[in-house]
Amino acid sequence: MSLIVQKYGGSSVADPDKIAHVARRVAETAAQGHQLVVVVSAMGKTTDALLALAQQVAPTPPPRELDLLLATGEQASSALLAMALQALGRPARAFTGAQVGIYTDTVHGQARIRRIENERIRHSLDSGEVVVVAGFQGVTPEEDITTLGRGGSDLTAVALAAALKADLCEIYTDVDGVYTADPNIVPDARKLSRISYDEMLEMASLGAKVLQARSVEFAKKYTVPVHVRSSFKPTPGTLVTKEDSRMEEVVVTGLTHDRSQAKVSILRVPDRPGIAAQIFGAVAAENIVVDMIVQNISRDGYTDISFTLPRGDRARAVTALEQVARQIGAQGVQFDDRIAKVSIVGVGMRRHSGVAARMFSVLARERINIQMISTSEIAVSCVIEDKYTELAVRALHEAFELGKERTAAE
Ligand code: ASP
Ligand code: MG
Repeated sequence: MSLIVQKYGGSSVADPDKIAHVARRVAETAAQGHQLVVVVSAMGKTTDALLALAQQVAPTPPPRELDLLLATGEQASSALLAMALQALGRPARAFTGAQVGIYTDTVHGQARIRRIENERIRHSLDSGEVVVVAGFQGVTPEEDITTLGRGGSDLTAVALAAALKADLCEIYTDVDGVYTADPNIVPDARKLSRISYDEMLEMASLGAKVLQARSVEFAKKYTVPVHVRSSFKPTPGTLVTKEDSRMEEVVVTGLTHDRSQAKVSILRVPDRPGIAAQIFGAVAAENIVVDMIVQNISRDGYTDISFTLPRGDRARAVTALEQVARQIGAQGVQFDDRIAKVSIVGVGMRRHSGVAARMFSVLARERINIQMISTSEIAVSCVIEDKYTELAVRALHEAFELGKERTAAE
């Protein structure tokens, strides 16, 4: 008998029929004699709807009350799933994050899990029940409800799997695994049977939306094997797991793109100590997370600084920076919303050279101009003009032969 944590995303529990379908799947697994903890997201687009509702009554909703509101989405879906399971004759019990002792810090909207008390879950499992947990939420030591950031139900599942020392954590979603590229853009994109934590982390942070990045960090830290698979198809998905030597033989594992960012440049910034701190201090004060940063070498004591950030935060950043630009005597602030970031990822890059050069030459061959470049140990990202995204992704997929079945890595 094994202990399995399963998580079902919003699209998998979007309506009563889908909840009934999930209940049947859960009941089948339970009937095989496994102990089951099931984490659910809110139904469909509930979280977005609740956010919009809050904004209609307050332009900037207070974070504590916003969390109290958002957490109700998962409370509803978990209660409904437990009801559906009981209707099938399968004993089940639904709990909120607070009820199962998921304790977090007090950062509303982005809370971090500090501690999980698992007695209540254990007790319920031992009495033969399927435990259904509302994802995305926890509680502070002062008993205020918190949420774990968008996509946070993945984190709930991985954290519970770690705390309960589960044998497996399965993430059920509307795609059947992690692909070498977005199959909507690249028809011969291939489903990966395995991917390392580090690669998945890069893919998640660089724009692939299969798993929440923080949940992958957590899985890596506690070595929780995570199986990403489809709620609608029985086929196996992608196992996110510890790196093995076979993975390093492949230079590029996958590629990803992100069209949600904007680029901001501060022009003719006086080149002296403290200026970058002042610029990015102003952005941080707006709680904006910046991504790629490029500073040119200085000419005649001035330089340009560019960076990327979520497009939704661009207007606020520019307003804040125009003020800073005046204070420090920079020439001005420019922005561009029509950008995309295209990235290649692979642990094999640690051992192979010339990978970045190959990427640049593929883009050059397609006459795509590179606006910014950033690299990590296992990824290279280029910012390009948005309208070339599809072209770039297809050309790179082809050039790195990602569509080909590789015996070494599979
Ligand atoms: N319902 C939350 C969201 O939409 C959490 C989740 O789905 O994982 O972000
Ligand atoms: Mg999700």
